[in-house]
Amino acid sequence: MITINEAQTRIQKSIPPLRTETLPLGRSLGYILAEDIRAGVDLPTADNSAMDGFILRSRDTASASAVRPVRLRIRGAIKAGDRGPRLLAKGEAYRIMTGAFIPRGGDTVLIKENAVIEKGKLVIAAPLKPGSHIRRRGEELRKGSKILKMGGAIHPGIVGILASVGRDRIKVFTKPRVSVIATGSELVEPGRRLRRGQIYNSNAWMIWAALQSMGVTPVAVMTARDQLSVLKTAVKKALGKSDLVIIMGGVSVGDYDFVKDVLGGFGVRQIFWKVKQKPGKPLYFGKQGRALVFGLPGNPASVFTCFYEYVFGAIRQMSGFRRPYLRRENVMLQTPIRGDAKRSLLLKAKMSTRFRKRTIAPLGFQASHMISSLRDTDSFIVIPPGRKTVARGKKATADLLPYAVEVES
Ligand code: AMP
Ligand code: MG
Repeated sequence: MITINEAQTRIQKSIPPLRTETLPLGRSLGYILAEDIRAGVDLPTADNSAMDGFILRSRDTASASAVRPVRLRIRGAIKAGDRGPRLLAKGEAYRIMTGAFIPRGGDTVLIKENAVIEKGKLVIAAPLKPGSHIRRRGEELRKGSKILKMGGAIHPGIVGILASVGRDRIKVFTKPRVSVIATGSELVEPGRRLRRGQIYNSNAWMIWAALQSMGVTPVAVMTARDQLSVLKTAVKKALGKSDLVIIMGGVSVGDYDFVKDVLGGFGVRQIFWKVKQKPGKPLYFGKQGRALVFGLPGNPASVFTCFYEYVFGAIRQMSGFRRPYLRRENVMLQTPIRGDAKRSLLLKAKMSTRFRKRTIAPLGFQASHMISSLRDTDSFIVIPPGRKTVARGKKATADLLPYAVEVES
């Protein structure tokens, strides 16, 4: 049986070469840039006013004093978006609003709060220095300069930057098409009545949600009874239209665990089966052409844990993320933890802050068939095999869920 690290390494090495596509700006959020972005315009695009006030020529105020103030004629107003006058002539001023472009000749803005107006004239009682409250064309970036690098994730701030330089089509790495198959004759959709022997299909919904939160809408979510022909049909359909297939349940050693056989029948090559971990020991991973196939053991805690420890990273790596796996940190334990002799423990855990230090504690209901502890789970504590007890106050490895911040609030 292989270790968690070995399993993750084998997955990383199995990721096919990345593909790219060009998306409209409005659909680019959450993708990874597949090109360097250069500014299509200067920013700011022209000299403009940083404040509401008056634009004038500083030279006109050179002789101004309290005794002999200069009086400037106010010729009109320029607001943001106006083409505005071409030229600001000697002895003249315009009212100007924030963001309005500066007419030629104008070189300083007197802010509205400091302006004195008498009989319709702007009264200046001291010389004004040039350049006040003016944002210069190109002061932030020059047209043609590189502003974003290939490989960066498009987050809301990046969308803003792209829009500010006028980009509406962005080359990104394509996200994988993902199919989900829940297996089990016992499964019933939420909303229905349960008959004896049945349970609700929680896994499919949980994984659908996890995918959605990664910006991946699965191309198919199917449920297959534990019947060879039914499973075959579902797997065939999934393989035909996916870059990654997630099958849940049916990968263990039960009499009705057909998944591995069915996959083998479709030419899916097994890369590993079984990992030294708890939960999720019978995890399966295989490949057919470009397509990756994960078989997650069906217990809900196994599905959740295996998804975030393996599938999440695989999808993100396929989407072009440079650090695709969960963030790993060393965090101080609030309670002692007994290790397992043979397998790594992946314990559902919650972090908190005590005396300004981050600490972590395992939650209750850890058994793989239990799900309620996911309410507070924001991380996994990873305890390697063979560790007798890790004492309270010692640091342990923790893998942080991507939505840890939401759990906290
Ligand atoms: P399996 O891996 O198919 O042997 O399933 C292990 C356990 O997980 C069994 O108790 C199943 O009933 C349960 N299980 C399997 N699939 C699901 C699912 N989609 N939703 C909830 N529980 C499931
Ligand atoms: Mg089953």
